[in-house]
Amino acid sequence: MTSAAELGAVTSRRVGIDVGGTKAQAVVLDRAGEVIESAQRPTPRGDHSLDTLIDVLIELADVVGHDGTLGVGVPGLVTRDGVLRAAPNLDGVADFAIADLLSARFGSAVYVDNDATCATVAEWQLGAGMGTTDMMLVTLGTGIGGGVVSNGRLQRGSHGFAGEFGHMVIDPSGPLCPCGRRGCWERYASGSGLAMLAREAATGHRLHDVVRHAGGDPQAVRGEHVQQAARDGNAEALAVIDDFARWVALGLVNLTNACDPELFVLGGGLAAGADLFIDPIRRWYGELLYQPHLREIPGIEFATWGPLAGAVGAALLPELAG
Ligand SMILES: [Zn+2]
Repeated sequence: MTSAAELGAVTSRRVGIDVGGTKAQAVVLDRAGEVIESAQRPTPRGDHSLDTLIDVLIELADVVGHDGTLGVGVPGLVTRDGVLRAAPNLDGVADFAIADLLSARFGSAVYVDNDATCATVAEWQLGAGMGTTDMMLVTLGTGIGGGVVSNGRLQRGSHGFAGEFGHMVIDPSGPLCPCGRRGCWERYASGSGLAMLAREAATGHRLHDVVRHAGGDPQAVRGEHVQQAARDGNAEALAVIDDFARWVALGLVNLTNACDPELFVLGGGLAAGADLFIDPIRRWYGELLYQPHLREIPGIEFATWGPLAGAVGAALLPELAG
């Protein structure tokens, strides 16, 4: 594994940009892996043409200053040569050759990868997964993304599409997913999944206090309401959190059976509620794991980089490629 110190020796100023559904985030890392500059711009709304996307990337790269080399994270399916094939949250994206276009513009190599893959790099090299050789990042946000480090190497898969854990089907008769199938893991174990479980409980005449706080309408109950009530010790809200944790653990067990990692790092928006989720997730994981008495139980930790993970990992892409 390449250490952070070795990475830092390659160049002193590493620039990464992460394009999200609502904003694009740029960071500059110094030799020690500290963020020394950052900047944000809104992701163009509605019009996600290639030109508007490239304009935002060029503007942000110029604002933070770069020597031509940079890494970029984008949400969606990214080929191994930096073509954004499709992006569920960016309408109009189809086969955008971002790496080639930016490389031609800047006159040097630009590396483009999936945003969750970039977050995996950040946590592996400079975050919760430092020092590991077999780890998996799972981002629990609106949906679920992820990335795989195996045998000390980032795994992109044969086409670049590895780590789309959210669309593992865990209930073929479950709720519809935007991907067209039913019962994908992210329907249950993401921020949207928590909201669904909360509404189910509310319409099933549980969560009375939570419904009252949400204005009296069970359909208005959101995940945030349940989290707040659970923190206040509300038993019905804690039961929803426990149910949610079981769905998260179920997917982690499936991933364990496939890849046998030493560590899971959980990132994404729900990482902000780590204190609420971590114990029930670990407990359910221990209960559901195949042959737990015959193995060392993989660790489960929450991510350390928060919303900067994608940009930080993007900044490390050039050196990982080199
Ligand atoms: Zn799906």
